[in-house]
Amino acid sequence: MGDFGGRQKVFMKEINAADFQQEVLNGGKVVVDFYSTECPPCEALAPKFEAMAELYGEKIKFVKIFRQGNRELATSLGVSSSPTLLFFDNGKQVTDSISGGIKKSEIIERLDQMLPTDEVTAIKANQKATVAEYDVVILGGGPAGLTAGIYLGQAKIKTLLIDPALPGGYMGITHQVSNYPGFEQPQPGFMLAHYMSEQAKHTGIDFKVAVDITSVNLKKKEIVIDGFETIRAKKIIIATGTTPNTMNAPGEKEFKGKGISYCATCDAKYFVDKEVTVIGGGNSAVEEALFITKFAGKVTMIHQFDKLTANQTAIDELQKNEKISVMYEHEPRRFEKRDGKMVTFVEDLKTKELKELVTDGVFVFIGFKSNVSVLGDTLPESDSWGYIKTNEDRQTNLPDIYAVGDIISKKYRQITTAVADGTIAAMTISKEI
Ligand SMILES: Cc1cc2nc3c(=O)[nH]c(=O)nc-3n(C[C@H](O)[C@H](O)[C@H](O)COP(=O)(O)OP(=O)(O)OC[C@H]3O[C@@H](n4cnc5c(N)ncnc54)[C@H](O)[C@@H]3O)c2cc1C
Repeated sequence: MGDFGGRQKVFMKEINAADFQQEVLNGGKVVVDFYSTECPPCEALAPKFEAMAELYGEKIKFVKIFRQGNRELATSLGVSSSPTLLFFDNGKQVTDSISGGIKKSEIIERLDQMLPTDEVTAIKANQKATVAEYDVVILGGGPAGLTAGIYLGQAKIKTLLIDPALPGGYMGITHQVSNYPGFEQPQPGFMLAHYMSEQAKHTGIDFKVAVDITSVNLKKKEIVIDGFETIRAKKIIIATGTTPNTMNAPGEKEFKGKGISYCATCDAKYFVDKEVTVIGGGNSAVEEALFITKFAGKVTMIHQFDKLTANQTAIDELQKNEKISVMYEHEPRRFEKRDGKMVTFVEDLKTKELKELVTDGVFVFIGFKSNVSVLGDTLPESDSWGYIKTNEDRQTNLPDIYAVGDIISKKYRQITTAVADGTIAAMTISKEI
């Protein structure tokens, strides 16, 4: 929403399948956001979508549709993952659809394609460059970054936390956390994320979330967000965590969001009584496969080794669950879609035989890589796996640059260890500033 000379202008409208013909197909230039509830990437997209609507709203209409309430329409448009954005011009879909963890720049790129160059130039001229100064900038609002924020805020240090998504990190997509101390019963991850980010906000630190990180210069300690906001800091804490690995198998990119998902919390609810393939065999894969059985009728896991590598409690749970079977020593080689089903071509690593596994959807949980590529040209020293090396105060080898949480070189990556890292970096900085 924006205020135009005292008039409140509505930039985005919620519509249903019944309005689709009128609002979208007869509606000129329209962007449609298919969203779901309990979907962290949908929540992270919402403010970006609203910001875009505010900027482009005179030229392009923005509507949102609740996917769960309009399943038939979503399916007819090939939408099988939340969130998904579709772009229409005069009733025809233009540009490709995008889904999952959508960046602001990916939306802008497509919106710019829908308009003449002079109109794009006029829209860009409305964005004014700004510069802000902080004592500390925290990059990343997972448990590590939020904890650093809580301690710095309580120490009255001028701090800004930046995140391209909403605060919470992986906590936001974990259905239940049973090992974070202080709670008798397992907590929904999104609630832990909510408690931690509210606690950080109450200490008075600033937040810039759901933004695009345009550039990071660790040497100059300067960050540019959304292309026009420059932020300078005396010290930077890197808490950008990790990203799930992809298999780079043929078909994976093509069917991402259209049959292949990386988020059970977001998409498992669409597989009630259906058959699902889960790829992976570590903690995340086993825990997420167990969660998926709350909805799906049958889950087949594909794991490259002859044993699962998850913790024993999770393995015991899995072995008790009759809905799950595991194909050990198999690896996916490529994906296809046939009659609306996902076909995973799986190689038996012992016999080299290629088998076809046909299910309604595929979930991928095969480990993580550190998010260092987003940190510009001058990177702190890392280990051979790409995780940042720190000393016991969580200082990197670069002056005034700290790193905390999953992104650092360490043995155990948990919420508790991330929280501990955030505490240490913030307490060290509090003594220095
Ligand atoms: C499915 C799953 C289940 C899990 N279950 C448990 C559990 O039950 N118990 C437990 O203790 N641990 C669990 N873990 C591990 C735990 O979630 C992580 O160890 C912890 O979240 C790491 O915290 P972090 O703050 O370092 O990183 P993250 O939680 O990954 O947060 C990183 C943040 O940085 C942001 N970011 C990324 N790039 C940038 C950028 N360029 N600039 C700024 N910000 C950026 C991200 O959007 C994100 O918000 C689980 C992990 C997964 C994936």
